Amino acid sequence: MSDETSGTRANADDMGDMGGQRDLRDLGDGTRAVRAGLPDPVPYEPALPGPVFAAHYHLPGEPTGPYTYGRDENPTWTRLERAIGELEAPGEPVETVVFASGMAAISSVVFSQLGAGDAVVLPDDGYQALPLLRERLEAYGVEVRTAPTGGDAQLSVLDGARLLWLETPCNPGLDVCDVRRLVREAHAAGALVAVDNTLATPLGQRPLELGADFSVASDTKGMTGHGDLLLGHVTSRDPDLAAGVRRWRKIAGAIPGPMEAWLAHRSLATLPLRLDRACANALALAQALLTRDEVTGLRYPGLPGDPSYAVASGQMRRFGAVVSFVLPDRDRAERFLAGLRLVDDATSFGGVRSTAERRGRWGGDAVPDGFIRFSVGAEDPEDLIADVLRALSAAAR
Ligand SMILES: *Cc1c(COP(=O)(O)O)cnc(C)c1O
Repeated sequence: MSDETSGTRANADDMGDMGGQRDLRDLGDGTRAVRAGLPDPVPYEPALPGPVFAAHYHLPGEPTGPYTYGRDENPTWTRLERAIGELEAPGEPVETVVFASGMAAISSVVFSQLGAGDAVVLPDDGYQALPLLRERLEAYGVEVRTAPTGGDAQLSVLDGARLLWLETPCNPGLDVCDVRRLVREAHAAGALVAVDNTLATPLGQRPLELGADFSVASDTKGMTGHGDLLLGHVTSRDPDLAAGVRRWRKIAGAIPGPMEAWLAHRSLATLPLRLDRACANALALAQALLTRDEVTGLRYPGLPGDPSYAVASGQMRRFGAVVSFVLPDRDRAERFLAGLRLVDDATSFGGVRSTAERRGRWGGDAVPDGFIRFSVGAEDPEDLIADVLRALSAAAR
């Protein structure tokens, strides 16, 4: 297991030895994804070794070495962490820490970096659990400021903050902020920057390349893409920042199960295929919805003419699987959802099966009653669009 000890740092070197093959940086996304995090081939062993189920490891003598106790490290996590690191920053030394969920990953950054007297800037239109986080942070004496994602409005409350938290595109409104610009200003003001990259995934945008200190995601969504597990991760270039996050995982014990970590690694191989299909379908759906009179407030960052399009095009390589729009009222939205045959009425997004929901049913998001968040899957676009248009017409009657 000694080849596992150095985490993602070993990856660039490993690939450099591949008989003069291309540098990891130059590989296409598909090639990188199918090979990401795999150990060097061992005769008669599988390419991706199975999940390691261990609460503790043989540990004679001094308790040092890569694997001591199951809450601290696990070889299945190590491989997944390398794989995610290769997608987040191809060919570069970064460290990734995987968690039991996206919220565990977010909490690890926030609680490892902030203490009483610090100020943090959050988006006011981000993931719906951020207000819960705010409540906790304020109870610990952290000052929490919020501003919208669009128009880089978080800049206006940055002064003296220790951490700037971005979510772009934000969920569910799909506004986008200019990460490079916000990072430049934040760093000049002495603040660290974390980006919640859940919606885009590292194949949609690479926050570290845009200058962020932390790339954070819920891998429950598009990263793993089958709607069958919860997981999260944090990636950083800075070993000290990563160590703080890793330490928080040990303290809070927010660790992923080995089976989930293994399934996630297996799923990463198809991320480019799934995402390319979903993005193409999402654009086609958005274009079809443009022609409907009952649809207002249509948003997709990849749709030319969308308010997010210009900034998104400057920092994203794929625009994601989520389309949002507004139907005239709650009843119409519910009839539409009930009339869909190929789309499940369910929350979450980024899965191979399309899902949609009336977002207002949760409370918490500032959205109209008829607001639909639509996550586009890997179906054939003709089938999907026909189903949506038919359900829209049926809901109008
Ligand atoms: C779902 C989501 C989270 C939370 O992730 P979990 O895996 O459910 O804990 C955080 N941020 C965004 C943008 C999300 O969509």
